[in-house]
Amino acid sequence: MNQPGENSHYDDGMAPTCSVEGGADAPVPMEGIRGDLTADAPLAKLVWFKSGGAADWLFEPADLDDLKTFLDRLDGKLPVMALGLGSNLIIRDGGVPGVVVRLGKPFAGVEATGETEITCGAGAPGILAASTARDAGIAGMEFLRGIPGTVGGFVRMNGGAYGREVADILVDCDVILPGGRLVTLPVAELGYSYRHSKLPDSAIVVAARFEGTPGDPEKIGAEMDRIAEERENSQPLRTKTGGSTFKNPEGGKAWKLVDAAGCRGMEHGGAKVSDKHTNFLINTGEATSTDIEELGELVRRKVYADSGVTLEWEIQRVGRPA
Ligand SMILES: Cc1cc2nc3c(=O)[nH]c(=O)nc-3n(C[C@H](O)[C@H](O)[C@H](O)COP(=O)(O)OP(=O)(O)OC[C@H]3O[C@@H](n4cnc5c(N)ncnc54)[C@H](O)[C@@H]3O)c2cc1C
Repeated sequence: MNQPGENSHYDDGMAPTCSVEGGADAPVPMEGIRGDLTADAPLAKLVWFKSGGAADWLFEPADLDDLKTFLDRLDGKLPVMALGLGSNLIIRDGGVPGVVVRLGKPFAGVEATGETEITCGAGAPGILAASTARDAGIAGMEFLRGIPGTVGGFVRMNGGAYGREVADILVDCDVILPGGRLVTLPVAELGYSYRHSKLPDSAIVVAARFEGTPGDPEKIGAEMDRIAEERENSQPLRTKTGGSTFKNPEGGKAWKLVDAAGCRGMEHGGAKVSDKHTNFLINTGEATSTDIEELGELVRRKVYADSGVTLEWEIQRVGRPA
């Protein structure tokens, strides 16, 4: 599932040649590094909300070795943040300090690597993981069909839907730690809870292995179609949004609390609470990230006043305020 207006930087499928754009001095020597490094790189076009400031640096590695070399040379001197499809992110208007790493096409492969196992590059979209599993007769990953992010984002966020989550299917993942060291972490080391992992902030997931059960491709496909249809009917998929804004509180549904507090359709600047799904905020046109975040805070206050429940943000909010 593409985000609105998404254009892959790697459309030709070829590894990029080395380049530094933006006219600033690179934070590391770039000899032998083949990916693209861009100074002051606008991020709004790379995230679903289509708002927010620029990354001090955006690095788009050519492959795993390239990423390791870059992070090894960076040696933890600047903060590093991975960016998937930006389907769960508010990039604040003052931009993101340090280096944003976007994995993209070179990390987007998925293959069946066992009777009931698939191995996914962390840049692969959920729909590709689910359909590769279906074609290999592996059940249990249908839910990934409906989550519009990348495998790296799912692993960090413990993405889930329809009663299943990444913690149920993850065997292990390959992660590059700040400083460039590649480690394989088994699921038990990720400290999973609802929409949360204990993965260190600057760690970048580069690959993950998921385990399912034997299944009939036709039945799996039918379930994926059902999920796609249900999503289409219940979520504002074709708008500038960031997915579920708040985590469901223990034993409840965030959207019901937001609705009961009278926030359906509420607007602030260019941001609005979706009429279709009240746990989604949308950018109606020219919203700033400040508008979106302030609207979220307004909703939290109203929900607290109405029900006494303090909603917790699910959307990741990153960067400097305007
Ligand atoms: C219409 C819509 C429906 C959605 N439905 C669901 C749903 O049903 N269930 C659900 O769980 N979510 C849902 N989401 C939210 C979102 O798709 C998930 O949170 C997804 O896991 C985010 O993936 P991403 O690649 O876009 O990550 P991003 O939004 O780019 O980033 C989210 C976080 O993950 C980190 N991250 C991204 N890639 C990596 C990586 N390679 N290594 C380490 N960290 C990384 C980022 O630094 C950030 O902290 C929905 C979103 C939208 C827009």
